[in-house]
Amino acid sequence: MNFKKPAIFSLIIFLNLVFYSAASDLKTPAEETRYTAYSQNEDIARFLSRLQSQSEVLKVRLIGRTKEVENYPAKDLYLCLLTEEGVADPQGLNRQKPTIFYFASQHGNEQSAKEAALRLIRDLAVGDLKPLLKKVNVLVMPQSNPYGNFYNVRENETGLDLNRDHVKLEGESTQTIHRIFNLYQPEVTMDVHEKGDDYYRVSVGCVSNLNIHESLQAYSRQVILPGIEQKLEKRKITFHEYLVSDYLGLDTSSGASISPQEEREILWRYSTTDLNDGRNSLGIYETLSFIQEGASRHDLETLEARTNWQYQGIRALAEIVADRPGEIISLVRGLRTNLQKRAELRATDDPVELKMDYVRDEREPQLVVKSFEPSASPIRGILKVDKKAGDYLTAEELSPYRGPSGLKVITRVEKNWFPRVESKLAVSRPLGYIIPAGRLDVVDVLLAHGIKVQMIDKEASVKVAAYQITSLVPARADYLAPEKIEVRKEEQARLAKKGDFFVSCSQPAANLIPGLLEPQSDYGLIRYFKFKLVPETGNYFDLYRLEGPADLELVDYKLWK
Ligand SMILES: [Zn+2]
Repeated sequence: MNFKKPAIFSLIIFLNLVFYSAASDLKTPAEETRYTAYSQNEDIARFLSRLQSQSEVLKVRLIGRTKEVENYPAKDLYLCLLTEEGVADPQGLNRQKPTIFYFASQHGNEQSAKEAALRLIRDLAVGDLKPLLKKVNVLVMPQSNPYGNFYNVRENETGLDLNRDHVKLEGESTQTIHRIFNLYQPEVTMDVHEKGDDYYRVSVGCVSNLNIHESLQAYSRQVILPGIEQKLEKRKITFHEYLVSDYLGLDTSSGASISPQEEREILWRYSTTDLNDGRNSLGIYETLSFIQEGASRHDLETLEARTNWQYQGIRALAEIVADRPGEIISLVRGLRTNLQKRAELRATDDPVELKMDYVRDEREPQLVVKSFEPSASPIRGILKVDKKAGDYLTAEELSPYRGPSGLKVITRVEKNWFPRVESKLAVSRPLGYIIPAGRLDVVDVLLAHGIKVQMIDKEASVKVAAYQITSLVPARADYLAPEKIEVRKEEQARLAKKGDFFVSCSQPAANLIPGLLEPQSDYGLIRYFKFKLVPETGNYFDLYRLEGPADLELVDYKLWK
């Protein structure tokens, strides 16, 4: 009676074959259409449903929902958890491994970021990347802006530029990104975008705000970025650290709708120090945080190629982190623990930076980069009809030529190269801030950031430091800090009332809290008109610093959030 065993054996082989062939055949929505259409929220739901049914390592969670607007219904936001253990919640995460969190296409017209994220999810769930999950946990939010993807526009359904919304957190998607970050505490994050067509097919930027520990920037520049470059080189994909050009003396990264009033020179620098983007706003928690920018012509003809560049970049990051899990865990967790200690210690030589400048570096006086130079192509178009010499030719008879021959590669030298960041203004770290009961709008933003807020439960007299405004030139646009704001710090005995709030700096957001709440911060809530936080000259700023111990009776406020 030996025949049963082989039968079962071959049945297992057969089922395995069915399973693996189905798995490896599973196409992403863009692959299904051969990259002739951008995948939409419904396509993604179908794809993730199929994929989850075939994979024990993928769990998809509904993690948020966009707003319903007149021309587009509310849509689900998905988070894909890819773990060897197949966990479905943050508590189950194996913390022996580092966790990477990718989020894509905050800007809706940067479509290849989303298509590449879907390909990464598939290859981790059932493809050749699955073995990485022995070393690393991966979280992917493949579509951050369904409305923007549908209309192929940058903004979300309420007109927000989501990647300038990470301080005030008005968008459902930005709130969702920060909720995921707070729940899962990833050590590594990457925000995936597209920029204009560029010789460098993949650009990756690391953290740049001075409040983020310098060792994260150093590790990014010494280990992660060269690692990505090497892996891309093998695939003949050009790479550079992400560079930004801006007007000299004008910082347009705030998201304010401003343009220079006079002719200005262009400067080159690394990505912004602002905390309003998906990179520094997570980096501020001592995270190895990155932005990837894929080169893009923003047309369907190039969708497949540019999705591949993006995919190879995000894949390279996962491979590098999986190569060095212990090193990355001890770097990031060590810095996070240390930040808590620094917040308790409040050393005089450990202030919080509020204003920064991009400056030159004499060891690196100029930037040498390659770029495409558009040269007039001799080809005017492709004939749609048969013509003979001497015939008339109308514009309608020509379809546009999309080939690459109109570009040549040149080497450029940029003299206005500002690779370093320097502090312009810093303040000492307070114990925390007292926020009057009426400032619920401020409290709500802090809560959305995952910051612990406490309510004062018993009236008490406390010594606070108050800021009196001595000189003020208001901002010329929403999203900008006042052009000038000078203050005098004054010690006051103040009655902390029942219902007022207290925010301690002794928490993971130790560096973010002063950045949001100080009146002279270039990164603060004071920049947004809706908070009405700018006082008249002579008046006091409405948020108070607690600099010495106080006897406060406190209850955690809205802890259930
Ligand atoms: Zn973008």
